[in-house]
Amino acid sequence: MIDKEIEYKQICSDILGCSKCDLGCDKLDGFNPRVAGCGNINSKIIFMAEAPGFNETQFGKPLIPPGTSGKKYEEVLRELGLTREQVYTTNSTHCRPPQNRDPLPWESLKCLEYIKREICLINPEIIVTFGRFAALTFLDSFKMTKDHGKLQVSTKFKETSVFPLFHPAYIMAYAPHEKREQFKQDIKALKNILIERKIIPMVEAK
Ligand code: SF4
Repeated sequence: MIDKEIEYKQICSDILGCSKCDLGCDKLDGFNPRVAGCGNINSKIIFMAEAPGFNETQFGKPLIPPGTSGKKYEEVLRELGLTREQVYTTNSTHCRPPQNRDPLPWESLKCLEYIKREICLINPEIIVTFGRFAALTFLDSFKMTKDHGKLQVSTKFKETSVFPLFHPAYIMAYAPHEKREQFKQDIKALKNILIERKIIPMVEAK
């Protein structure tokens, strides 16, 4: 356990000082653009978004309110009966891109080392991804419109179960009603999987 904590601290320290790609600059809009993953390093579940936004860099935590993605993420956790402290939360690219643009392929590739180290450390039973870029970290081919809400086995990380969801920022800001409904259905499907795998308990309706 102590070794796990030491390795976790080392991963955080390596990310927070990283300049392996152009995103690792000293400051972006006044804050360090680098955000390390956080939460329970013994969790059976990892939630992974794409890259930090402004609020994440301000507070130094992934998917954190008052950012819209963070608010929606915490809603999802509540729906699943989970808290942030029970799960591990991270991003597939650990630095905020300027103007919140999409991470470029080589930036994601450079950051893969940290994802590998986080997964090796936590050894989750399932990884829930938010958005296309996070899903593509684990799957060779992925189309959000047809592959969201389907449990898959990673083609890049052996035997890792991946459950892709729409990105919370999309659901909050742009998604039409139909996609919001699909997102709700996907959360229900995820909840059933987590219950089946005994990652969360079944709660009897009163
Ligand atoms: S995005 Fe990843 S690889 Fe690039 S500087 Fe940030 S932590 Fe390093």
